[in-house]
Amino acid sequence: MARYIGPDCKICRREGCKLFLKGERCISSKCAMERRPVVPGQHGLARKKEKEYGTQLREKQKVKRAYGLLEKQFRSVYEKAERARGRTGDNLLSLLERRLDNVIYRMGIASSRSEARQIVSHAHMNVNGKAVNIPSYILSKGDEISVKETKKDLDIFKALKDAKPSMPRWLEFDGAKLHGKVVDLPSREDIDLNIQENLIIELYSK
Ligand code: SF4
Repeated sequence: MARYIGPDCKICRREGCKLFLKGERCISSKCAMERRPVVPGQHGLARKKEKEYGTQLREKQKVKRAYGLLEKQFRSVYEKAERARGRTGDNLLSLLERRLDNVIYRMGIASSRSEARQIVSHAHMNVNGKAVNIPSYILSKGDEISVKETKKDLDIFKALKDAKPSMPRWLEFDGAKLHGKVVDLPSREDIDLNIQENLIIELYSK
């Protein structure tokens, strides 16, 4: 599957906000957004005023990149959100949040979404007792996630034993048992990224 392989920090600098793509580094003083929060490139310091289309495009790029999706994948999630009942913006964010890779990141099993994606695609996880290696798998309320018995001795999972990560109210995770659950569906208030989803809808409605 195609994926972005360029520098992650450049993405944050381009979008003008921290997207937390590099785990521990993002909360340290080494974060590029702390050290050099300007748009990359020769004219990065000269702030350009975005026009309407530019603002909408930047918002879509920001969300797409935060969740680590390529254009085609993001568009397909958007279309799914549009077909579902309710507000498209809320549906879009809910679908993105309920992706298996994002849930693993939110539970604190991985320090970034890209690490979470790797954990899933290396077939370390079960959903409701069955192996799932698709990062885009959408979880529902009540779904249970666990680390495969044969993978529990890996260092990344052993380190979770005593960890007490903070996580959103719609998830729970027991590090000792390496078992978690989606206890509720995420609501708009649960999403901590500064997102203006109406701009994405305006962009795709053109
Ligand atoms: Fe973004 Fe993290 Fe790099 Fe900071 S360290 S610029 S938050 S990817």
